[in-house]
Amino acid sequence: MKLDILALGAHPDDVELSCGGTLIKQIDEGFSVGIIDFTTGDLGTRGTSEIRLEEARLAGDYMGLRVRENLGFKDGFFKNDDAHKLELIKKIRKYQPDIVLTNAPSDRHPDHGRASQLTIDACFLSGLEKIQTSQKVWRPKNIFHYIQFNNLTPDFVVDISDVIDKKIEVIKKYKSQFYDPNSKETETVISSKDFLDSIKYRAKDLGRQTFCDYAEGFISHQLPKINFISDIK
Ligand SMILES: [Zn+2]
Repeated sequence: MKLDILALGAHPDDVELSCGGTLIKQIDEGFSVGIIDFTTGDLGTRGTSEIRLEEARLAGDYMGLRVRENLGFKDGFFKNDDAHKLELIKKIRKYQPDIVLTNAPSDRHPDHGRASQLTIDACFLSGLEKIQTSQKVWRPKNIFHYIQFNNLTPDFVVDISDVIDKKIEVIKKYKSQFYDPNSKETETVISSKDFLDSIKYRAKDLGRQTFCDYAEGFISHQLPKINFISDIK
């Protein structure tokens, strides 16, 4: 099955937190979108592999994803080595995405930067015919990094004003991870009310700088091209 957009994340919820609004908009426009998570995030303080897989499934269904997979890589310890690259090459060739979204180039969680470099390497290698997987070779046209914990400066933003409420609803599907006043689990940096609020106020601030209500920012792996300078709003 060919996908228009494939979003990759080191942990379930990385994608939704960082670029859920952008994906919701593309899905609403009829684009085929999938998410592949590298790990189940089982080293996280809250939740278990089973709970997090179920939350990811619920979030994906709510967004209208065509595909959601988990590669079962080892949380905290997966490597950017031959075996991991090959696993990812197989998925890139399977889904033939034109656009790949990946983690921030560097971030608070070391898995994020490593996942990002693994993605970039696999996307390039996937286009080499001498790497044989009995599939057609495929190289995505564009790779964009979404921005997650650290406030990196984006190269461009996507206006998500119309879908900000749905994005927050999607994030709340990850009940084990984020703010829940009734939870008895250990409080973490991301389970505080402040963290959930910060998702919205970052989007609000990017919107303020670009004259819309809410926006999500991206860093482009390649030089982005537009047809007309007037395409920038
Ligand atoms: Zn993560």
